[in-house]
Amino acid sequence: MIQGDRPRVTTAAGEVRCDAVVVAGNAYLGNLVPALTGRIMRVANYIIATEPLGETRAASLLPSDAAVSDANFVLDYYRLSADRRLLYGGEVSYTGREPRGLDRRMRDKMQALFPALRGVGIDYRWGGDVGITLNRAPDLGRIGRNLYYAQGYSGHGMALAGLAGQILAEAIGGQFERFDDFAAIRHRHFPGGERWRVPLLALATTFYRLRDRL
Ligand SMILES: Cc1cc2nc3c(=O)[nH]c(=O)nc-3n(C[C@H](O)[C@H](O)[C@H](O)COP(=O)(O)OP(=O)(O)OC[C@H]3O[C@@H](n4cnc5c(N)ncnc54)[C@H](O)[C@@H]3O)c2cc1C
Repeated sequence: MIQGDRPRVTTAAGEVRCDAVVVAGNAYLGNLVPALTGRIMRVANYIIATEPLGETRAASLLPSDAAVSDANFVLDYYRLSADRRLLYGGEVSYTGREPRGLDRRMRDKMQALFPALRGVGIDYRWGGDVGITLNRAPDLGRIGRNLYYAQGYSGHGMALAGLAGQILAEAIGGQFERFDDFAAIRHRHFPGGERWRVPLLALATTFYRLRDRL
């Protein structure tokens, strides 16, 4: 990517010249924009989905059909799907490697919370990378005149990423009110530089995990 009045973005498939660039690679961005590297950390997060439970059993688990997350620092979250499965999310990895015994750990946690699900079938499991910021607030901003970025929703991107897209579109169209509010949020780099960032975050999270257990 070459910045300037008419930035140029080159991909394997071709090249685009444009008036403004939006960088929204989030946890997958790597070192593409060095100024952004270190402002977010990639953390892998996982979800399991039970077999369909049927209306009665599903309603007995979450009678109000709420989407729930617990109050822990490394939190778990769960809800019922439209086809009445329990979706249970939690567990993290900072290394890019899947945690050992992931299936069992997730099943154990789910069954500890919902003993009625002991022995239930798990039909699906999936995971992906979430971008987190040091202060857990989304990181929207601009580098130079026309390189915009939005990232680091810290696990809450389903609604916020769409909102961020609208806000960046407004800014590119010349309306900066909402953009300026978000861009004013102070974001710091994770400590430790390229080498120690991940181990330090893992260490800090271990501390908070222990505190969660107390
Ligand atoms: C298991 C899991 C559960 C989650 N649960 C929730 C939840 O319950 N509620 C909630 O609000 N959020 C949740 N999230 C977080 C939410 O999914 C993200 O915050 C949201 O997807 C971020 O959207 P995004 O468009 O910024 O980034 P992403 O969805 O990560 O998209 C970034 C895209 O950029 C692409 N990309 C990166 N670099 C490049 C490059 N150099 N060239 C080309 N393409 C590139 C990537 O391939 C990717 O497609 C969850 C995430 C995971 C993984």
